[in-house]
Amino acid sequence: MGWDAITNARATLSEATSTHKLLLEGNDALAQEKSRAIALAVSKQLIHAQEAMLSVAQERSEPFKEIENLSPALKLRTKIVKYLDAYYLANESGAGSGDPYCLLCWERSQVLIHLNRKSPTENCCPNCDRDYLAETTGFGI
Ligand SMILES: [Zn+2]
Repeated sequence: MGWDAITNARATLSEATSTHKLLLEGNDALAQEKSRAIALAVSKQLIHAQEAMLSVAQERSEPFKEIENLSPALKLRTKIVKYLDAYYLANESGAGSGDPYCLLCWERSQVLIHLNRKSPTENCCPNCDRDYLAETTGFGI
């Protein structure tokens, strides 16, 4: 809709400008009632153009909102590393350290969810319920 809305708004503004010019030029010759009718028409045209421009502005802001939403995930991407079947925060040397984050949650939704110990041999994600082998998702590495 973006370019169509802009084209429509420009046409409406052009029409409103022409009507307004007519109102200004013919003010003396026009009856007061006719002047009011023209002024009302201009107002309606301006409102229509304003709505069209608002629609375009909202549509154009969507990609920027998407970038803002992705930005935290992109920043985190440089601070985490994959090791075996989990993600970890990177230490100063770039190696993973600390407790494991769910591999699946990060790769699907770019959210970091700490795994829980389910048993001596299994860890589990409290968000997606995926089970992992404890030996490939170690704690406190
Ligand atoms: Zn998960």
